[in-house]
Amino acid sequence: MRTTSRYRAAARTIAVIGVVSLAAACAGSGGTGGEGATTGGATGGYPEQNITFVVPFSAGGPTDTVTRMIADPMAAKLGAKIVVQNAEGAGGTVGAGEVARAEPDGYTVLMHHIGMSTAPALYKDLGYKPLESFQMVGLVTEVPMTVVARKDFPPASLKDLVTYVKANASKVTLANAGIGAASHLCGLLFQTAAGVKLQEVPYEGTGPALTDLVGGQVDFMCDQTTNTSGQISAGEVKAYAVTTPERVKSLPDLPTTAEAGLPQLEVSVWHGLYVPAGTPQDVVQKLSDALKAALADQKVVDQMAKLGTAPVPAEDATPQAHKAKLEEQLATWAKVIADAGVKAS
Ligand code: ASP
Repeated sequence: MRTTSRYRAAARTIAVIGVVSLAAACAGSGGTGGEGATTGGATGGYPEQNITFVVPFSAGGPTDTVTRMIADPMAAKLGAKIVVQNAEGAGGTVGAGEVARAEPDGYTVLMHHIGMSTAPALYKDLGYKPLESFQMVGLVTEVPMTVVARKDFPPASLKDLVTYVKANASKVTLANAGIGAASHLCGLLFQTAAGVKLQEVPYEGTGPALTDLVGGQVDFMCDQTTNTSGQISAGEVKAYAVTTPERVKSLPDLPTTAEAGLPQLEVSVWHGLYVPAGTPQDVVQKLSDALKAALADQKVVDQMAKLGTAPVPAEDATPQAHKAKLEEQLATWAKVIADAGVKAS
């Protein structure tokens, strides 16, 4: 089920001025601790109706893929149907805002990624505050990114890509999923590392961006292995590198950015589940337990491995670990984005 027009109407126009080093933002890592802050009383028979999982990006993209992977095993554990709904726009902030304003009853759940921690520094008048407007349920996975181009794009290697885009900066197009999306952040890192400013083409998710890349309408982009693995293996796109310190098992021939000569371009994309602040503690606990069960499901483990990723360890699929990660990432990105002089208007 898609609700695009409603959400598109709320999308904001954002201009980003200036790109400086964002590399420090990639140094952040997860942690544990913090309180599992929830409010409200016990809710007895939860769940008693369908649960909606909101994906703040287009259907068919990486966030959508991960959400659909865990929805069925979570539904089985919870004993309720889970309906996945795409609420794309403005780098994930439209869908996040929608969930922030939803009833805190556990029936509207948000899947979001690293963008939850970057949006406050990028967007003016966001309309929600990550730590105050949401209750964290648990972390889900951390996904490597890949640098991919249309099949007939001339550069043969990551080093060639840097040389080529510098020589052709006015005509090369770089796709992303909107300001604050993982592809946008990775694209900023690339431009910073390469010392170039390119023409960016925003989509409402990298699902449609990848379709255009395969079709040759845009030149290149960064995107998660959960979206690009199939096209890379099938030779439908040209892949230059994976943005993690280690190679990805499912794409063994793909060098790391460090091996390919661009060590500054290192980023992976953490995901977590959220409910509106004020959701009762026992509901959050049930969702977190269901998340843990889904992440332990061998089918999910195998599906994720095929797409170059893995579930987080069970102790990170908790409100406490998720909150600690979000706090650390908010601080990291606030500083990096401020230092970088990136502004939203
Ligand atoms: N996660 C986005 C999507 O699902 C892509 C991105 O953040 O770059 O389309």
